[in-house]
Amino acid sequence: MKTVTLKERHDKKYKDGYLVVEESDVFDMDNLNEGDLFILKNASEEELGLFYFGRQNRGIGYKVSNDLSVRLTQNYFTDLMKKARLEREPLYRAGHTNAFRIYNGEGDGLGGFTVDNYNGHLLIQWYSKGIYRYQQEVLTALKSVFNYESIYEKLRFEKEVPTYLLTDTPTEFPIIIEENNLFYTINFEDGPMTGIFLDQRDVRNKILSLPLEEGTMLNLFAYSGGFSVAAAKNGMDTTSVDIAKRSLELIEQNFALNELTLDNHFRYTLDVFDMFKYCRRKNLLYDLIVIDPPSFSRSKKRRFSVKSNYHELIEEAAFLTKANGYLLCSTNASDYTLNAFKKMIESTLENQTRDFEFVEVMGLPKDFKTTNLYKPSKYLKVVLIKFLD
Ligand code: SAH
Repeated sequence: MKTVTLKERHDKKYKDGYLVVEESDVFDMDNLNEGDLFILKNASEEELGLFYFGRQNRGIGYKVSNDLSVRLTQNYFTDLMKKARLEREPLYRAGHTNAFRIYNGEGDGLGGFTVDNYNGHLLIQWYSKGIYRYQQEVLTALKSVFNYESIYEKLRFEKEVPTYLLTDTPTEFPIIIEENNLFYTINFEDGPMTGIFLDQRDVRNKILSLPLEEGTMLNLFAYSGGFSVAAAKNGMDTTSVDIAKRSLELIEQNFALNELTLDNHFRYTLDVFDMFKYCRRKNLLYDLIVIDPPSFSRSKKRRFSVKSNYHELIEEAAFLTKANGYLLCSTNASDYTLNAFKKMIESTLENQTRDFEFVEVMGLPKDFKTTNLYKPSKYLKVVLIKFLD
């Protein structure tokens, strides 16, 4: 068996069970091909577990087991999927939701790939060439454990994120999924995104139940308007802002699917910072502002990163929120801890003269199973704030 040896004093986190080998911790490694199994050793030759080699942005390999005799066989993957299926039983039975994650990488036992179910159409996302070596085993396991109409894959380890069909009959996109009695349009073949972020399900549900009927909502970084649909169904007037033109069509489709007219639901193709200027000029104020930016974005005019610029979004949004209004701040940056995120929100708002309280902190829904052995798996942080004046 091939080995990877850690630098001296770089073994602590792996002894504690950490799941991803970071290249900066490695002293020496055998010549490894993507997908090869290896034993991780520390400088004194102690064996710290079995991993597979797969280069991705998070590291160079994922842990398979503490048991060095495990092998990535067909049975291994079939058992993995059976276990994952069992845990999704409540969602399969729920009746009001037919799109959710059915296998969530390390949270479900082996990292490097995820599988989502969109009303019977399954989407596998591969994050390294290493795990992709086991494509056939995963596919066979999925077919034997889950019901499906079609299975697709996206190769996230390739720059263009290509999408391929893995079963015989192509699906005619868009398809429609249901989530908590709301409907959304989905297309696997329209770029890296699918039409909805399944990980925000609990947040959409929260927006649906906020005590803001007849209020107004501003949805920043709106994409396909998932949050706007929820707000509209709750009785709010909505304004959705996204820099990408394709958002307009997606939002219109999603409103139509939910039998909402577009009266009092405004859509802008704008950089959010231009929207802020527009709102200030027109004295527009809102009862709820949702901020859900990508971790990085670059427009013609400016570069934005969650870590260095989020506070600017909050400063501007605080100006535009009505008395007793809400601010919903979301980030999926896995290297931003909840504590640091909350502190940033707190210190930004304390610099403003408005009084506020934290109402709720939300995160991933249950099907996005996470593990304490790998903290970045809990990447989604959503903080709801209420202004008290
Ligand atoms: N909130 C959405 C997901 C947002 S994805 C949801 O829950 O469905 C991020 C979106 O931000 C993308 O659609 C992208 O086009 C948009 N975006 C990126 N930079 C932007 C900017 N500077 N101004 C406005 N929109 C931006």
